[in-house]
Amino acid sequence: MIHALFRHLDKDCEIVEVLPQKPTARCPFSAIVMIGGYKKYVVIAKTDAQKFYLKRSIEKQREFYDDFSPYFQFNFPDEFGNLDDFTYAIYPYIENAKWCCDNRPIEIMEKIYKKHAKTHKMSPGLLAKIQTDFLSSWPEQYHAQIKQLPLYKEYFDNIAKQTSIKIYREHCDYTVNNILDDGKNLWLMDFEFSKNFQPVGHDLHDYSRTVMNQYQTKQKLAKMKEILMDNINDIVDDCCKIKQTKKKHKWGKMMHKIMKIFHRSKKFAYPKIWNIKPTDKICILAPHPDDETIGCGGLLALYAKQCDVICLTDGRYGDPDIAPPKMTQIRKKELESVMKKFGVNKFAMLNLEDSHLRENKAQFQKLNLRDYDYIVIPSPRDFHPDHMAVAQMLKKSMYADAYIVFYEIWNTLANQTHYVDISSVVAQKRNMINMYKSQVKHIDYASRIIALNHYRGICHNVEYEEAYEFQK
Ligand SMILES: [Zn+2]
Repeated sequence: MIHALFRHLDKDCEIVEVLPQKPTARCPFSAIVMIGGYKKYVVIAKTDAQKFYLKRSIEKQREFYDDFSPYFQFNFPDEFGNLDDFTYAIYPYIENAKWCCDNRPIEIMEKIYKKHAKTHKMSPGLLAKIQTDFLSSWPEQYHAQIKQLPLYKEYFDNIAKQTSIKIYREHCDYTVNNILDDGKNLWLMDFEFSKNFQPVGHDLHDYSRTVMNQYQTKQKLAKMKEILMDNINDIVDDCCKIKQTKKKHKWGKMMHKIMKIFHRSKKFAYPKIWNIKPTDKICILAPHPDDETIGCGGLLALYAKQCDVICLTDGRYGDPDIAPPKMTQIRKKELESVMKKFGVNKFAMLNLEDSHLRENKAQFQKLNLRDYDYIVIPSPRDFHPDHMAVAQMLKKSMYADAYIVFYEIWNTLANQTHYVDISSVVAQKRNMINMYKSQVKHIDYASRIIALNHYRGICHNVEYEEAYEFQK
């Protein structure tokens, strides 16, 4: 029914799968949805407890980000907000755990936990802290009732009996979402491995559960905690008076509203690492000699052997004081020196007239780019007529199954989708840009573009990164 209604409402959006909803008031509705050809993971929170958890899971992700990056890729929501009487979040959908942590989630998690966890001696003060943070897992209005549960007292009496306890992160692990006895130590852990919030990957949930269960079946405390959590969930369910018979099509309507917002805002995924395989072949199209280095100098430095560069125009109008024939020679030499210094696989010049690329469409479209996995070009909104022309003139018949990737020079990318960490080669990029002496005498390209690269790293806590946008 949801499927039919959804398709009827909006052709661009389609529910792929409605994920099973646990029959408790704290578990929100969630579904996998296709939006504009991309799989997204949509969470809708209706009750106060669901809203509380949705917000909390996003906050917790950010807390964990510092320690777990770069071991894990985190999946932050594209969209998070309120609409009518519900809260929603739209995440990029992650197909498998490999993207997050190279199929080693538990191994990495344990390593990080062991590195950061501190042993705390049990004391009344510590016990009080653990209790407070445990309660913070539920909205405040339930705290008084929770404290009256008989099992609540029994559970914390047992915790108090421990002489010491290992805690990964203060004000995070005290919440005791997971309690783990590895045979030697008792650990309090709180890693949001929830399938419903998909913080680090859909597949991790089942994996971590299996491993946790291996330990937990043997533990009294962990079992006790599970029952206690069930008791608390019953309280929350009663208060929310959740009706499990809720008509399904209501969700469909809400989803539709969210999708409309999503389309309007035109926001895209949180930028991901551009994973370039050793076998990938990259072709960078530069409208003028220097664009490839200004836009993609880091990429070139890191993957020179996999990169071919085609410079489209001769750059003859690159200096008003120098005659075009002479200028053409200067720019050709500069490009050759830079390409050799990078050690690119191949480079070529089409020698079309500078600033008239569009008028040479026929020659441009003779390019055979069928051999490449990625074709890297200026964004269609990179405000120079030759730069904008590239994306406009590129035809599907010129390439095979390559990804079209945009880089930035004259205008920043509004919808960056991927990044390349260029911190290790930033000095080289600067030097290479400065080899275009005929150009940097007019504008200090290196300082400006490297400042942009530094800024771009803000999202990933990377020193310098190049931003790229994969064409949808
Ligand atoms: Zn240019």
